[in-house]
Amino acid sequence: MSLHITDNADLSALNAFGVAARAQRLIELAHEADADQVVALAHTASRTLLLGAGSNLLFASDFDGTIVRITTRGRTILESGSVAERVQPPTVLVDAAAGEPWHEFVLWTLSQSLYGLENLALIPGSVGAAPVQNIGAYGVELREHVHSVEAISLDTGERQRIAAADCEFAYRSSRFRRSQAGSRWLILSVRFALSRTPCPRLTYPDLRTAFANRTEPPTPEQIADAVCAIRRRKLPDPAKLGNAGSFFRNPVISAARAQSLQAQYPQLPAYPDPSQPGQIKIAAAWLIERCGWKGVRRGDAGVHANHALVLVNHGSARGSDIAALAAEIRESVAAQFGVSLEPEVVIV
Ligand SMILES: Cc1cc2nc3c(=O)[nH]c(=O)nc-3n(C[C@H](O)[C@H](O)[C@H](O)COP(=O)(O)OP(=O)(O)OC[C@H]3O[C@@H](n4cnc5c(N)ncnc54)[C@H](O)[C@@H]3O)c2cc1C
Repeated sequence: MSLHITDNADLSALNAFGVAARAQRLIELAHEADADQVVALAHTASRTLLLGAGSNLLFASDFDGTIVRITTRGRTILESGSVAERVQPPTVLVDAAAGEPWHEFVLWTLSQSLYGLENLALIPGSVGAAPVQNIGAYGVELREHVHSVEAISLDTGERQRIAAADCEFAYRSSRFRRSQAGSRWLILSVRFALSRTPCPRLTYPDLRTAFANRTEPPTPEQIADAVCAIRRRKLPDPAKLGNAGSFFRNPVISAARAQSLQAQYPQLPAYPDPSQPGQIKIAAAWLIERCGWKGVRRGDAGVHANHALVLVNHGSARGSDIAALAAEIRESVAAQFGVSLEPEVVIV
């Protein structure tokens, strides 16, 4: 057996909030061939949690079960063979193992002149977690470039290739993220449908501004560079200040409700949700800031001074301190606006 197993494992270096927590057992899955053994071990555990890079998780307490950390590596361009023949050029299929670091994978696709993921550069985490909440940034969502996902069921040990159409992708959601506890599918690899032809997506205001003075469209590499520069300028680096990016999703509400809120608060940013016709997405950050939370600290748990949507660990906050702060924020937004904030971060 080549599985690495640690009992009473320290999780503090395995979560982007950097909170102290322990797991009864931690299993590292470094080779896909060992996935069946992991499933067998998961059967004997009281609870199982799948872990990538821990960039979207908050350990609110110790985990009294088994954590499976996926660190498999591998990338393959499927240029020939039966699978590739079924897609139309200039689409190229690319397989990436679940444990591949996301940003490194994006840079690698660009180095291979494969385009589509450039707007998603520098999102922390692993390839395998990317479909879980259908990561998105700067006007692009992962689902636009997923062909299929290969996963193994923790319940039956069955391996399945799940087509993108069956992944139930939605705004920061998928069939792999139906509950806070996560799903019973361990994603082994993701197959991407990328393009040999650049197709710049510059709908996002910050990107439009970055390229405002150009006559030629930017290359995908230039777009990735601009996205990285914007992200570095705007978002705290978890290596320096513990955080998991946006803590809450932007609420999606009915057009009528949005209209009535905007009548009361004309500055409330609101825009149609393309994936849910007739529904309006409103800015969670604006609601939180309006309730006076920006920059607030409760000991070492806090709200970032520039980003009301980003909760941070200033040093030695416990996961439960951050969860309690999040609950207070939810209550105050509900009380003031009648809007329910749902966490984007998985609270364990
Ligand atoms: C600074 C910062 C900025 C961020 N910006 C963005 C952004 O712009 N857009 C965005 O969408 N997200 C953003 N995020 C959130 C995060 O980067 C993504 O959710 C990322 O996909 C998490 O990857 P991970 O490997 O760290 O997942 P983890 O945090 O380890 O896990 C997240 C969820 O996925 C499940 N999971 C992990 N691996 C697997 C697997 N192989 N199979 C099945 N389930 C699995 C876990 O059980 C958990 O439910 C940001 C986070 C940070 C810290």
